Amino acid sequence: MPITTQDRTGKGLFKRSLTGAARDAECARMRAAGYLLREIAEHVGLKTEGAVAKAIERALRDVQAPAVEALRASQQHTLDLLKSTALDIMARDHVAHSNGRIVHGGCPGLDAAGNFQHDGCTFNVPGTAYCEGPPVIDDGPKLSAIAQLQRLLEREARLHGTDSPIRTAIEGDELVIRIKGGVDMDAV
Ligand SMILES: [Zn+2]
Repeated sequence: MPITTQDRTGKGLFKRSLTGAARDAECARMRAAGYLLREIAEHVGLKTEGAVAKAIERALRDVQAPAVEALRASQQHTLDLLKSTALDIMARDHVAHSNGRIVHGGCPGLDAAGNFQHDGCTFNVPGTAYCEGPPVIDDGPKLSAIAQLQRLLEREARLHGTDSPIRTAIEGDELVIRIKGGVDMDAV
């Protein structure tokens, strides 16, 4: 589509009519069509070539936004799964093992009222083996899960933080897209 670089009134009617995102998009479109920054500036009513370059960068960011959002959503999904697993581990009790066998803490016997003091107790039950007491709880897995969850939350903060994972820039004739810490799934 040909671009008219002169407005019809000659008094900047077109210039006033294009603002914001529409003007940014027009700048990017003209640049893609091979117009010089100076020509674009004149056409859309921007004062400097630098302003046009910035407008083009904004336009490119707008175009990239859906792709970035999709990437972010995918990473958030992974983070949610990992967080959910970590929370499950935190919520569960983990029995201690030694040489592949559950470690028991010794039976406290019966309470003053003659009731068992732990689940599965066989204290003094005729015909059963000596009660070893309840399993010893190992806090290690919970502590590991807490540490992992903290990492995941930090990762999540970076994912949504002010430190945007994507940067676009025009370098010469190339659109350069830099993704910072955004696709490193191994680090999750
Ligand atoms: Zn017992």
